[in-house]
Amino acid sequence: MRLDKYLTNQGIGSRSQVKALIKSKKVFVNNVLENKPERHIDENNDIVSLDGVNLEYNKFYYYMLNKPPGVLTAVKDNNYKTVMDIMDVTPKEGLFPVGRLDKDTEGLLLITNDGELSHNLLSPKKHVNKTYYVELNGELIDSDIDLFAKGLDIGEKNITKPAKLEILSGRNRAYITITEGKYHQVKRMFQAIGLTVTFLKRISMGSLILDKNLKSGGYRKLTEEEISNLK
Ligand code: URA
Repeated sequence: MRLDKYLTNQGIGSRSQVKALIKSKKVFVNNVLENKPERHIDENNDIVSLDGVNLEYNKFYYYMLNKPPGVLTAVKDNNYKTVMDIMDVTPKEGLFPVGRLDKDTEGLLLITNDGELSHNLLSPKKHVNKTYYVELNGELIDSDIDLFAKGLDIGEKNITKPAKLEILSGRNRAYITITEGKYHQVKRMFQAIGLTVTFLKRISMGSLILDKNLKSGGYRKLTEEEISNLK
């Protein structure tokens, strides 16, 4: 790819900012000063340095988003705002949300361009835990814990895989942990015991826990530790 694109992909700045850096003799390729923004870079072999510091090419990007209600979990949509529309990151091309939260559901969404990680997290064979905080229109009883653990008939071919239900104070709130990702799964599981979900927020996915400091609509890059724990 071109040197200026390589630098913008690294989040160094906009195309015009990185061109200015190149023109001001701050960018070296393989220890040789480079003044052409169009210079071809082989990101696996060339060493690019800026102000004397070698840049490591970041092929993959990982963000956690605290999804607000009212936005679609999609890259693009003609009618509604999507999760990608509300993220102002560089580069954005190639990023996508891992899995789907309903339009009215909030909370943890992983955004990346790492297709292999996404595949592994979503694969039914990997049984990745997803924990949600739920509010309901009625009260849970202790025996519901058993029903969720044994599996519920939500109109699919098979009953749901064992889920963990933790009833919270008031009994109309709970944490639920599931390992599947069927369409509207959590809502349909509570429907199966006669309750309606009035609020739904995902708080974890595998080892990744929603950062409490992220306000609704906020996002941040994952730490190196969070990335390696997910893999
Ligand atoms: N289950 C649901 O019903 N909705 C979601 O958004 C996620 C899980």
